[in-house]
Amino acid sequence: MKSENNFETNTISNLSVEDIGNDHLFTSLETPMVKDAFTKSDSEKKEIIAFHFSEIMKALDLDLTDDSLKGTPERVAKMYIDEIFSGLNPKNKPKMALFDNKYQYNQMLVEKNITFYSNCEHHFVPIFGKAHVAYISSGKVIGLSKLNRIVQYYAKRPQVQERLTMQIAEDLKAALETEDVAVIIDAKHLCVSSRGVQDESSATVTTSFNGAFNNPQKINELLQLINN
Ligand SMILES: [Zn+2]
Repeated sequence: MKSENNFETNTISNLSVEDIGNDHLFTSLETPMVKDAFTKSDSEKKEIIAFHFSEIMKALDLDLTDDSLKGTPERVAKMYIDEIFSGLNPKNKPKMALFDNKYQYNQMLVEKNITFYSNCEHHFVPIFGKAHVAYISSGKVIGLSKLNRIVQYYAKRPQVQERLTMQIAEDLKAALETEDVAVIIDAKHLCVSSRGVQDESSATVTTSFNGAFNNPQKINELLQLINN
């Protein structure tokens, strides 16, 4: 459909799989999972992944009897389940214990430059960068390392950057019992820099400003603290 200024407006279901991948569109805040997710054990999943990854390698005409390659399917399977996609399984979610804000610190708290590694769900190649997370206590606080852990948990999924940003913000709002949460993510996508349009210098910035952060003055204050 053409709008007044001649831009095409589309709904995602009208687009081809190619367009969806190249434009990195996504359909929901929730990571799309099948209904019967987590009925298989981790070791069953690793077996299935190793088998299919060896099939991919064979399709590429790689010699799986070579000493360097023969362990690769099992290594990839283990890495997927135990490391880079471990955040798909809710059993790996960090526990978020709250503490009373004894010092009555009621200014914003910023945890900045949290390094993370994720993977694009459209191409399965890395997205990596920095996350900055801020909140204003409603009377409860959480351990600083938890802010880092919650970023890592959601990063360890096939992702799109917008969803990663929103999932972190929504989770922190629920855990901290406040709307006053901000998340900024500044990341590079290898599917953009090493393939496709091959732009090495571009980066993608996404934000989720909620509650008291929906205010230009607060956003300025936050950006100053991050850029300091
Ligand atoms: Zn991609």
